[in-house]
Amino acid sequence: MYYKRLDPDKKDILLIDDTPENLRVLSFILKTEGYNVRKALNWQMAMTACQIVLPDLILLDIMMPDVDGYEVCRRLKSSDITAEIPVIFLSSLDDIFDKVKAFKVGGVDYISKPFDFQEVLVRVQNQLVLRTAQVEILKLKNELEERVKQRTCELEKTLQILQKEIASRKQMQGELLKMVLHDSLTGLPNRFLFSQRLETSLNLSKQESNYQFAVLFLDCDRFKIVNDSLGHLVGDELLVAISQRLQICLKESDTLARLGGDEFGIILDKLPDINAAIQVSERILEKLSLSFKLSRYEVFINASIGINWGNKEYEKPEYLLRDADTAMYHAKALGRARYHVFDPIMYQEAIQLLDLENDLRRAVEQQEFVVYYQPIISLITGKVSGFEALVRWKHPVRGLIFPIEFIPIAEETGLINAIDKWVLRSACHQLRIWQDYPTIPKNLTISANLSARLFSQPNLIVEIDQIIQETKINSASLQLEITESVIMENTHTVKTVIQQLKDRKIKLIMDDFGTGYSSLSYLHNFPLNTLKIDKSFVKIMDKNPENMGLLPAIIGIAKSMGMTVVAEGVETREQLEKLRSLNCDFAQGYLFSRAMEPELVVDFLNADPQW
Ligand code: C2E
Ligand code: MG
Ligand code: MG
Repeated sequence: MYYKRLDPDKKDILLIDDTPENLRVLSFILKTEGYNVRKALNWQMAMTACQIVLPDLILLDIMMPDVDGYEVCRRLKSSDITAEIPVIFLSSLDDIFDKVKAFKVGGVDYISKPFDFQEVLVRVQNQLVLRTAQVEILKLKNELEERVKQRTCELEKTLQILQKEIASRKQMQGELLKMVLHDSLTGLPNRFLFSQRLETSLNLSKQESNYQFAVLFLDCDRFKIVNDSLGHLVGDELLVAISQRLQICLKESDTLARLGGDEFGIILDKLPDINAAIQVSERILEKLSLSFKLSRYEVFINASIGINWGNKEYEKPEYLLRDADTAMYHAKALGRARYHVFDPIMYQEAIQLLDLENDLRRAVEQQEFVVYYQPIISLITGKVSGFEALVRWKHPVRGLIFPIEFIPIAEETGLINAIDKWVLRSACHQLRIWQDYPTIPKNLTISANLSARLFSQPNLIVEIDQIIQETKINSASLQLEITESVIMENTHTVKTVIQQLKDRKIKLIMDDFGTGYSSLSYLHNFPLNTLKIDKSFVKIMDKNPENMGLLPAIIGIAKSMGMTVVAEGVETREQLEKLRSLNCDFAQGYLFSRAMEPELVVDFLNADPQW
């Protein structure tokens, strides 16, 4: 109600004067100029007028009874509502007009009586324009403040959103970094992070003379068997359990990482000497040797550990790990479930091995192999019953190389498949040639060695069929020698393959029996035709002629299972006679002949040796 205007287009002027005449004259002048004019004779009326409508301008007489103009002005200025209304004082010439006081109490101008109409209008208009401008400025200021407030509010909101975004990005970045640097299964650092830590340790050892460390490369033994027999989920569960057990053996500042598969890397920090690394390795092996109780199975696992001392002379961290890996391989070769400390000689050996591997690849491409044949003698007839095909490598520089030197590498690299197939084909060809000789018995057999890898090849049978078809040999003359690992590593497929071979009358020989798992129990599940007893058993007979060890028992059990028995490594007459007395069926060894080139075989047979 205060701010309601009488006529919104007209400026409202309040005249305060105790002289009605003055009010009349001024009112007249101003009205003719189009202003809305109201009149008040004293403070009370002025107050009431202001309460009804707030005027745009006040013209105020100084000399008034009761409350004079200065006091009225002071009161107007002291009220929030009326403080901003400009006040022009009206003064008569005979008044004692104190201009300074008038301005001090808040007046903006003054007009002297008698009034000069033009002057009144100009001064009134000036003040109104000023007032309008002030109001406008105030409005703009308020609007501006409001906008600033709004913008600040918006900015604050945006800032909050941004801060949230930054926080979530940081978290995401952290998670990504963790993913990039860690193994998802075990949560351990991965190979990449391990390399970084290794580099840090190496640099530290170069900078600080008393900082020493060691690198361990740990590989689980026969982990594949767990995966193949119990499934990958169990394998994964076991890996997590292994990583937890490893962690217990280490101190806070050490690094444990999963390098891939069943391989773990460890950096042992701040070590006094190599013995400290050996002690940790022993503790790890001891802890791992205890059974793992998984959710559905109880599993036993061993590991082989390569230890490498953090020599500061190493140029690159990878070399440190490489040598720990080499040492681990030595631990495996020495029988697994043990540690081995790296020796620089191993590196030289590893390099030679690599050269050999490259050479071997070339040899496979260029077919630098030859097959030698060693006779197998029937102890019933005393005559040759067949031959075992044994491969040799005709190395262009080194001459004849024996399988002991290259078969393990061929097995590791997978080249063995190509070699074995080639040997098998050559041996079958050779048998065909011999069978065409009239003097040579038609039931002569040929044995070829088959690696575990080749045995698990899905197209093995197809290829064997092809070879038999090509060479037109009687498949019943063919014998394949496999080792115990073939059965251990291929338990799923082996039964089918054995059956397929049986269907073709191809015989299966368990080679080197006694050197591996020597489990007679699986022979029940996987009935083979022949058991070939390893030469080490034959040797034992010499040492202790009275006690022939397990030999009689093994022969007895094999025969009771319907298998024939071959003894290999027979070098003396005594051995031969003992084996004969034990009812061993066949024998093979230097006593009869070493493996020979195929050209010598015909003469050997024609001599018709008899034992
Ligand atoms: P193996 O299959 O057990 O072959 C018998 C090995 O014993 C042969 O060695 C043979 O020369 C040797 N030997 C024979 N009689 C005697 C003896 O009276 N005394 C002694 N001390 N040794 C005797 P070789 O030819 O060096 O072959 C070694 C091994 O290499 C073989 O053992 C076999 O496991 C592997 N091998 C040979 N040729 C092949 C092949 O074509 N494929 C595969 N996968 N392995 C092969
Ligand atoms: Mg053999
Ligand atoms: Mg053997």
